[in-house]
Formats: sequence, C-alpha cells, structure tokens
Amino acid sequence: MVDTPSVQFLGYVTPQLSSHYTIFEEKDNVLIYLNYFEIDNQMLILLSPCPIEYSQQSFIVFSSTIRPRYRVSQKLMVSLDQFKSIVSFNILLFGDLYLTNKTQFQPFNARNFQTFISPNPLPQINILVVPGVYSIHFDQIYEFLESKLAQKNEQIQPQPKFDILVYTTNPYRVCNIQYQFDKTTQLIDYFFYLIDNQIYTDINEIQQQFMLEDIKGTLFDFLQGKNYPNSTPNIQSIRKNFTYNAQDTKFYILQQIKGFNQIHQNADFVKIFCQNCEDGNKCTLLSSQNQQIYFAGQSSLFKYPLSVKFLDLVSRTFSQLICQLFLITNAQNATYKINRLANLDRVEEAISCPSFNSQRNYQNLEMLGDVVIKYLTSAMLFEDSKYKTENTLSSARVRLITNKHLSSIYGNLKLNAMNFKINSKKLLNHMMMIINEHEDSKLSQKQQADIYEALCGACYIKNYQFKDLMDFFKLTKLEFQGTVPQYYKGNPLIDFSIISQDPGKDNDYPLKKQILKRPFSETVKFDQPFEEFQDYLGCKLNLIAEAMTVDQFERLEFFGDAILELLVIVNVHKECEKLYYNPRQQQLCREGKITQKLLLCPGMLHTAKISLLDSGFMGTMAIYHNFHQYARNLPKEIQNSIKKALALLRQDQFTDFRRINQYSQQIPKIMSDLWESVAACILVEYGWEKVIEIYGEMYKPYIKYFVDNISLIYDFCQSTGNLKQ
Ligand SMILES: [Zn+2]
Repeated sequence: MVDTPSVQFLGYVTPQLSSHYTIFEEKDNVLIYLNYFEIDNQMLILLSPCPIEYSQQSFIVFSSTIRPRYRVSQKLMVSLDQFKSIVSFNILLFGDLYLTNKTQFQPFNARNFQTFISPNPLPQINILVVPGVYSIHFDQIYEFLESKLAQKNEQIQPQPKFDILVYTTNPYRVCNIQYQFDKTTQLIDYFFYLIDNQIYTDINEIQQQFMLEDIKGTLFDFLQGKNYPNSTPNIQSIRKNFTYNAQDTKFYILQQIKGFNQIHQNADFVKIFCQNCEDGNKCTLLSSQNQQIYFAGQSSLFKYPLSVKFLDLVSRTFSQLICQLFLITNAQNATYKINRLANLDRVEEAISCPSFNSQRNYQNLEMLGDVVIKYLTSAMLFEDSKYKTENTLSSARVRLITNKHLSSIYGNLKLNAMNFKINSKKLLNHMMMIINEHEDSKLSQKQQADIYEALCGACYIKNYQFKDLMDFFKLTKLEFQGTVPQYYKGNPLIDFSIISQDPGKDNDYPLKKQILKRPFSETVKFDQPFEEFQDYLGCKLNLIAEAMTVDQFERLEFFGDAILELLVIVNVHKECEKLYYNPRQQQLCREGKITQKLLLCPGMLHTAKISLLDSGFMGTMAIYHNFHQYARNLPKEIQNSIKKALALLRQDQFTDFRRINQYSQQIPKIMSDLWESVAACILVEYGWEKVIEIYGEMYKPYIKYFVDNISLIYDFCQSTGNLKQ
C-alpha cells in the first residue's frame, strides 16, 4: 500500500516543528502553541512546541486557499493529562489515516510519549492536530480514545443521508457508508445506484462483472447466494464476509476509506497543485470505485467517533501544511537572525533556492541586492580621494565584494536556506519511530553569496532606505565606512503615476515620440558654455567642469555608473513586480496556466541592464540631450565620430526598440561616460531627489516602455544571445 521508503523527514527541521514540548513539572502543565488555519471555510488547529509567525502573503496549498487565521500562534497551557490524551489521539488518528493500525491496537512502532517531551537526537516532526474550531475540543478527544481503547462501541441509527464514518468488527478499519438497503431492496435498484454513481457505465457491464444472465430478486438474497449461481471470487468473498444478525432490518454497503498516501495522487508536487482539486472535486479520503466493498447489517455497524469532515481535512491538507510550515519557520528564523531588517515575505523569497521553488526564489532579490551593494561601495570608495582613476576604484570594489567574502559573511548568519524540494510524499507517518537521517544538501560558495545579496535586496526594499542595508552590513560585519550623509539618504524611486502624454501611439518607442516633438540637433557644435548646459539641466553644478572634461571625469563616471544601474534596476523591479510578480501571477504559474516566462525572472532584470544601461542607449541619450556640445578636451577623432553618429541618428525613425542598442558601436564610449558622470555630479551636489528630477524623468518613459513590453524585449535578447551574463 505504501510504496515510498520509510523516511520521516529529510535534513534540517526547524525547531518550531521539531523541538520538544515544554513541561512545567511543579504544576504538571504543558505549554503548547495553537496554529489556526482557515481551509475551505473550515478550521484546522495544529499544535506546535514553539510559536510560529506567519508571513503576510497567505500561502496556497493545492487549489484550496489555506490561510493562517492569526499572524502568530496562540499560546496555551494544558494539563499533563490533557496533553497525553492529545498525543494518544494523534498516534491513533494517524494510524487510521495511514492504514497502519492493527486489528488489536496501534502499530508496534508508534512513538512513545517521551519522544514528544524530551530532546531527540534526530529531528522529528512534533506537530500535533486537534479537533475543534475556536479551541481544542477535548470531549471529542476523550470520546475518540474511549471508543478506540475501551472498545466502547456506539451503534448507528438509520438515517436518510449518511455523512458519518463507521467501523464493523474493530475500530481500526474505518469505513464510509456507500449504500443503505433492506430485505426488500431489489438487486436492480442497487445496480442503478452503481450506474448513477459512475461505478459502472451500463447494465451490460454489471451483468458481465456479476456473471448474471438476468437480474431479478432482492439484493439481500443475492448476497446470501440464494438461488444464484456461483460468482467471481470477488463477489464470493463479499458474500462470505456479509455479517448481520437475524433481527437486522437495515443493511449497508461499505468501503474502507483511502489511506493518507492515496490522496492527491495525481498532484504535481513540484507545482504544488492537484488537477483533481482544481476541477472542483476535492480529493477525499472517501473511497472510489475500485476499493474493496463490504456488506453489513445494522447491528454490526458502529459509529466512528470523528466526523468525515475533520478526517478529510486532516488527510487532504496535513502533509502539505507541514511542507509550508517548513518554509515559513525557516524564513521566520532568518528574519530574527537579521533583526527584522527585512519583511518576513521577502526573507522567505531571499532564502529560497531556485531548486526549491522555481517561481519564487532569491534570484530577483539577488540582482537587486547586487546593484544596491554596488552603489553603496562605489559611494564609499568615491569618498576616498586616494583613488584617482576608474581602474583603482574598480579593483578596490572587486577586492571589497567577492563571492568568497560574501559567502563567509553569509556563513556567519548560520541560516538554513531552502535548497531542496520537500513534498508531502517524503513525509511519512510522523507518529512512528522510523526516521532516516539525511544530510542537508550543501550550498556552493556562489549560492551563499547569492543569498547574502538577496538578503541585502530584501533589507533594502523594506523601505528603500540605504540605512537599513547599512544596518545589515553592520550586523553581518561587512566593513562599510561611508560618511557623506548626502550619498546615503533619499531613494531612487521614480513616480510612475504621472506619465506625460507624448505624441504618437501609446506603444510607440519613446524616442520615436520624442523626436517628433524635438528632433536631434541639426548643427554640430562643441565647447559650448556650461551655463547653457546648466540651464538645460535646470540646476547649477559646481563640479560641471570635472564632469564634462575628458581625463577628469573618471571618478564621477565610476560613481555615476553605479547610480544609474541602481536607478534602472530598482525601478524596473518595482514596476515589474506589480505586473508580473504578484501572488495571483505566481499562483497561475504554479498551476501551469501561464509560462514561467510571464513571471518576472532574473533574466528580465538582466535584460533591463542591457537595454537601458548599455553604451548604445546611454550614448544615444547623451547625444539627444546634446551632452557633446558642452564636453571639454574632446579629441578631434572623437568629435568626428560624434558628427558621423549624429548624422545616422538624425535619419533614424526609432520605430523599433531594437534600433537604439545597435548604436553601441557607432557612438564613442565617451558619450556614455559623460551620461554617467553628470548623473554622479548631480548626486554629489544635490542628492537623490535631484537625480530623480533630472535622470528619473529622462529614464521614465523608457522604463515604462520596457516594463510594458518586457516579454517581447526579453525574447529578442534571448534570440540574439545577448543574455549571456
Ligand atoms: Zn487533490
């Protein structure tokens, strides 16, 4: 029946799930935590030995919407006796559900009480389930135990509709009532019932199966074999097992309930999605057609002391909930370790490896973290005047941030990342002694560095404050000594709610619209007065000469590069998340209804880098805004190249987004350097607010266009092989 290996769980199990329950000896009390889940308008209560904090993003298991009712577990003290009853309840209940309970008693290898209240050498799931809605329903627990252990059988009453579970000879074989009949019920009526319930398609099929020439007489007579020929071994055995007393007037057809592992059999455990549940017919423990059936008279049937609803709820959702709790508690521990510098949801994302969750993992946050770290370290190095050239600055930055460095910092955090796929099939009855120890799969140095960066990204986007990330640096002992307040306050966020209306169609490439209003300049001029440029930019810049002079702008250019990368990536990420990375989108992807491509993927953010930060784009922008006119010390041959490039640009209609990046070869690199150095010049003198006012406005239509057409642009970049990182 159970063909999975006897593995109870793999690798690291969080203390919230695996630590033992605390007993207060002097009072004989046990401390428990109640976790309420709303599932399909029902409530399921799970007990944990430690409090669990739930993330804002409600988690969805299969297609049922499962939501924690409270943000944290509710604390409760119960007596030692009450707790013992809860443990016995669980051992017996899961034995029934896994179909491992024996006729006489619970399975021989069931856990003993001690394993729940003392430290275990191997991690074991110590989550317990209890009946109840708003509090633990102890009466139901006692009733269940009494019926099981004292064999206090309660006979059932005939009912018009059966939504109770029953058992016959022993309370360890739980059955579901399929059909109720009496001595006068015709055999044909039963056959019609079978057809109505799609167990057989037509009478012919039944006649073949039951080996009947013609159908007459009562079902009761048929089961006794009176005047009927011998039948298939199957039917013979049903006849043999037909138990009833002479005084019985009502009889029942029963099916044994499905075992735990037979539920959600068609589920795709990678996508955490079950086709059957999705189609509206929820997987249930009530048996289907191919299960063995039994017949029994009224007097040999007893009521199973738990409702169908409760058992169904537990068997449908318990394993999946445990899998989810794994992630939640892992993220919760990580959140505590980083002093809540990031939101729980984001930490959850930051510590999930792609192998664990292909839809929601650290990749996007890592990319974001990477650019914020780059910005902060660039600013810090820019402050230090001992670095004179871009080369010395760049190599200093490389020395500061290496994978080896980042992974060692990550190591200090002692976080457990989600790096293997857990699924409910790996969970075996956790009330059993069988546990197999498994090594946690190890993260590579690169992965550790990625997770460190992703945590940086998570801290940063909590409030888009550099201070939060600097606090994270301090916590993780990453040396950071930036001091100029101007560089470390404000944020790079562009307000996309106000979009200026340009001529042309809405989805036209922004430059196409812009050149309709104001084309590239007709004349080529050089060495124009700075005052004119400052008027154009709309602010006075004391460092303008340094920023615009060849051989002098290197330091500013180095800083500007990091500034613009942050500006573009943060805004693209933020806008894209609204469209492509919301919970609804993630759910659709999980169910396989949209392709992975339509979910924001790190490739997309990388595409943004290529499209909006390459020298073709920045060079074209710099020429469009006439930066060359105000540059100083431009060598003659550069001036000539600019003239040629400008002639080409003037003729171009920019009808297609693919055009602009093709200019990277034609436009001298100095133009994109100027584009960057002026950005730094503005930041150094006025801070982020002014950068957004000037560069944010210039980038805004392009970022908007990029976000709206992201799959198109992404596909194009992939097809041209531009995505090699
Ligand atoms: Zn299902």
